Amino acid sequence: MQVETITVGPVQTNCYLAYDKETHEGFLVDPGDHAPLILQTVERCGVRVTHILLTHSHFDHVMALAEVAAATGAKIAVYEKEADAVEHPSVDVLRALGLPAMDIPQAQVEIRFHDGDTLSCAGERLQILHTPGHTAGSICIDTGTVLFSGDTLFEDGCGRCDLPGGNFAVLLRSLKRLAQLPGDRIVYPGHGPSTTLSRERQVNSAMLCALREDR
Ligand SMILES: [Zn+2]
Repeated sequence: MQVETITVGPVQTNCYLAYDKETHEGFLVDPGDHAPLILQTVERCGVRVTHILLTHSHFDHVMALAEVAAATGAKIAVYEKEADAVEHPSVDVLRALGLPAMDIPQAQVEIRFHDGDTLSCAGERLQILHTPGHTAGSICIDTGTVLFSGDTLFEDGCGRCDLPGGNFAVLLRSLKRLAQLPGDRIVYPGHGPSTTLSRERQVNSAMLCALREDR
């Protein structure tokens, strides 16, 4: 599976285009902003996008969602708890961040994930891991060799828990679950550089904290 990173928007959100190099079938993760750039990348790579997966519904991960979905015809998929927030966006998070209210385009969700669901896409079997903490319905998307970690796990860090729906104790449980996945993964986070699970198990202070304590 080939992965292209497209960093977009005011808080440098990573949108990912993942695809099968043979069939050119693929999916997008978190079209956060700048739909023209995302669509250019889709076109340049010659990908037929079948699904758009959201790691969570925060504005910086969905601003280009409606436009990219309309242009590609791809199905939008998100954890069931966050589908409402995609279909009826609220400015609560913008307000909590002290940002001016802006229009967050709404979009229609076609697939509502539950923990452990699988989806065949881009020649891979994607497994959905519910990893709450940054938000109540955050997910990671796991292929067994690649993990799209959203704002749950970053290189040397984890997502903030002070926004509506956030909970640090819950996030630590999610980080422990990720740390305990067997083997290694390339980790593609919602912000910042990619990393590996084996590296984060050794140096990520939040993950080490999660592993140390009995959670
Ligand atoms: Zn977020």
